[in-house]
Amino acid sequence: MVARVIPVDPFDLVIFGATGDLARRKILPGLYRRWKEGQIPEGSAIIGAARSDMDADGFRALVGEALQEFLPVAELVAETVASFLEILNYVTIDARGDGGWAELAGLMRKDKVRAFYLSVAPALFGDIAKRLKERGIAHRDSRIVVEKPFGKDLETARALNASLASYFHEDQIYRIDHYLGKETVQNLMAVRFANILFEPLWNAQYVDHVQITVAETVGVGGRGEYYDHSGAIRDMVQNHMMQLLCLIAMEPPSRFDPDAMRDEKLKVIRALDPVAPSEIVRGQYRGKDGDDYLTEAGNPDSRTESFVAMKLHISNWRWKGTPFYLRTGKRLRSRASEIAITFKEPPHSIFGESNQWRENVLVIRLQPDEGMDLRVMIKEPGPGGMRLKDVALDMSFAEALGDDLDIPDAYERLIMDVIRGNQTLFMRGDEVEAAWGWVDPVLQMMEERGDVPEPYEPGSAGPEGSLMLMHRDGRRWREMR
Ligand code: NAP
Repeated sequence: MVARVIPVDPFDLVIFGATGDLARRKILPGLYRRWKEGQIPEGSAIIGAARSDMDADGFRALVGEALQEFLPVAELVAETVASFLEILNYVTIDARGDGGWAELAGLMRKDKVRAFYLSVAPALFGDIAKRLKERGIAHRDSRIVVEKPFGKDLETARALNASLASYFHEDQIYRIDHYLGKETVQNLMAVRFANILFEPLWNAQYVDHVQITVAETVGVGGRGEYYDHSGAIRDMVQNHMMQLLCLIAMEPPSRFDPDAMRDEKLKVIRALDPVAPSEIVRGQYRGKDGDDYLTEAGNPDSRTESFVAMKLHISNWRWKGTPFYLRTGKRLRSRASEIAITFKEPPHSIFGESNQWRENVLVIRLQPDEGMDLRVMIKEPGPGGMRLKDVALDMSFAEALGDDLDIPDAYERLIMDVIRGNQTLFMRGDEVEAAWGWVDPVLQMMEERGDVPEPYEPGSAGPEGSLMLMHRDGRRWREMR
């Protein structure tokens, strides 16, 4: 089954940082796939911009190579690749200089949607926004897309918001969190708000606890030095995990529209209690032969965490008493992202002591194999009395909707949302600031108590302390397979 394509108006999309890793690996291959699906209309143009000196043909060659490198051969249809490369152009621009802007202005067409994707370091956001505005390249209805990291604390996030706000209105700013573009994350909203089944149970009375896991098998590798200034809390918790938590915990918005959704997410962040020192565990993978965080970070004294687990409490009527456990890390046993909602036991078992109760768990898998399963108790078939067993009501999207279902990558969906002018899946400035406002004291607490991350073996499920965080409460993490 091929995903239904919703047409958009022809557009001019300028990608700053078009020669960089993100543009070559995600943005341009994503745009090619949308072109192949017929979603990018004729008359649209994609303009690369960076300091590297090259002409349009040089850029087309670079993009052609990127498509070969980052897309499966089966997706590369020669004619389609050629026609896609035709709509590309390139301008040499230094974000902080004066050259190239007039040329860029000359390439923009009058009656087209204009979007500017800033796939560059955040330190350049203000410089680019200023020049786009002052040179009349961006208009009131143009859109500007910015990448993470959106600040490294509340102060820097506020400064970034302020510098963008000097030239663009909030309804023009698209702060990307690619987790929100994942099919399953949106399905979480469909499951919650398009079914009567779950919502009555979606509260502290029926939910025992929630687990959110984002596990990676890779280490920090070549990005060690950069990562060492960030760590798992800044890199994953402040943005992606906080967004997932908001979508699970938020109240139903009155409409599926950008501000209604974001208002509700903001309320969740504001209702988060400060995390207690005993309810956070940080770790670092420590192995031999270079498979070691300190070696990869190039910093033998590093106290930056490559793993974090924490227990969070939301102080509102819906969730008081239901803990949310978050864990994320690098060099773990498996690459798996999932949300698991564990429901409470029935108040009374009519089947006697011999039957061991297993909880009902709703698992939402973000990767790999996007899908959901609901674990329910059934009777084991055959004679021998009433023996219970827990099985999964499994819904793999690929199986349920057809093996050849073409699920667009998160970036593809999000870029098309920018062109459509739909901000629902993008973070609003106050949301980002609220998330930093919650994270900042956590980071300060770590700093003040001189916390040293607990070592864990590469390929394990994380440090011992993370297991204890659950065991203390008589619970356990779901297994990383
Ligand atoms: P990168 O590989 O270092 O690329 C940076 C790009 O910016 C290059 O095209 C570079 O080209 C251009 N650039 C640098 N200085 C410039 C200037 N003064 N004026 C104009 N262009 C300039 O970085 P990246 O990995 O693609 O990341 C880009 C942004 O996305 C960063 O904010 C990063 O944090 C974020 N991000 C990246 C990833 C990822 O997977 N890579 C994931 C999430 C977020 P020239 O040298 O030719 O100018």
